Amino acid sequence: AKKAGRDTLQFFDPRMQQVVRERATLEQDLRTGLAQQQFELFFQPQVEGGSIIGAEGLLRWRHPGQGFISPANFIPLAEESGLIVPLGEWVLHTACEQLARWAHDPAMAQMVVAVNVSPRQFYQAQFVDQVLAALALSGAPPSRLKLELTEGLLLTDIDDTIEKMVQLKQHGVGFSLDDFGTGYSSLAYLKRLPLDQLKIDQSFVRDVLTDPNDAAIAKTIVALGTSLGLRVIAEGVETEAQRAFLQEHGCHAWQGYLLSPPVPMAQFEALARKWAAR
Ligand code: C2E
Ligand code: CA
Ligand code: CA
Ligand code: CA
Repeated sequence: AKKAGRDTLQFFDPRMQQVVRERATLEQDLRTGLAQQQFELFFQPQVEGGSIIGAEGLLRWRHPGQGFISPANFIPLAEESGLIVPLGEWVLHTACEQLARWAHDPAMAQMVVAVNVSPRQFYQAQFVDQVLAALALSGAPPSRLKLELTEGLLLTDIDDTIEKMVQLKQHGVGFSLDDFGTGYSSLAYLKRLPLDQLKIDQSFVRDVLTDPNDAAIAKTIVALGTSLGLRVIAEGVETEAQRAFLQEHGCHAWQGYLLSPPVPMAQFEALARKWAAR
């Protein structure tokens, strides 16, 4: 009886209750936030050959009570609750509307915007139609949109993944494999996927100059990507020495605090115009 009592106490652990309550509140706040347009898409420039070639769109949530909440703190809950579907759709529409505005602007028309796609969002039967609708409604050139997928996607149904990618590629949409090397992707899958780009995860970039293992991994990803005919981009580049090392070893493009953190759209546009005019 004593043991059962203790189990019961454990079950009603007040800390657990608090966690559950906080999650429910956050989930409700996410719904409200979507309805009240508390989300903003920031842009982090991507550089190739000394030019800004585009940006990665990164979600920001201006929570009315708590200020900015990092995506790392709400994307997992959005995934679990399914809210990632409308949230991801909002991101797609926002990115496409931006691309459409830039389409007739000589300084901006070549910019590619990369958008992160969650597994749950991608697995939906209507995913391809949602992307095509966002492109069609906005009038954005499909070839300026790039979708960043993570390796987790490849585990569930590789044939479905390939089919969706092929359909979108036929319209000109590009694909990048995000956080490459941190997940479980097999090389056999990599060969079958119609990718355009591999992205070296920032965990390998951080110590690329001091940790020989990270240097070996970064160089191997560049060699692998290049031999498969893919572009390779590095994320999390913070120093000129990291950038120089990656370039020296054949990495095509980079993004990171060295040039700019993710910034509001107007700030990204100003930076891109300044670079284009150099
Ligand atoms: P990610 O896709 O791997 O994005 C890279 C993260 O590294 C971003 O964090 C970015 O702000 C940060 N970062 C960029 N440059 C540097 C640098 O030089 N040094 C360091 N230390 N960090 C850098 P952020 O914006 O907090 O986003 C975190 C994650 O949230 C993203 O990781 C992505 O997985 C997810 N996420 C963000 N926006 C979206 C979205 O619209 N949809 C989905 N599904 N996920 C998103
Ligand atoms: Ca990403
Ligand atoms: Ca990444
Ligand atoms: Ca990463």
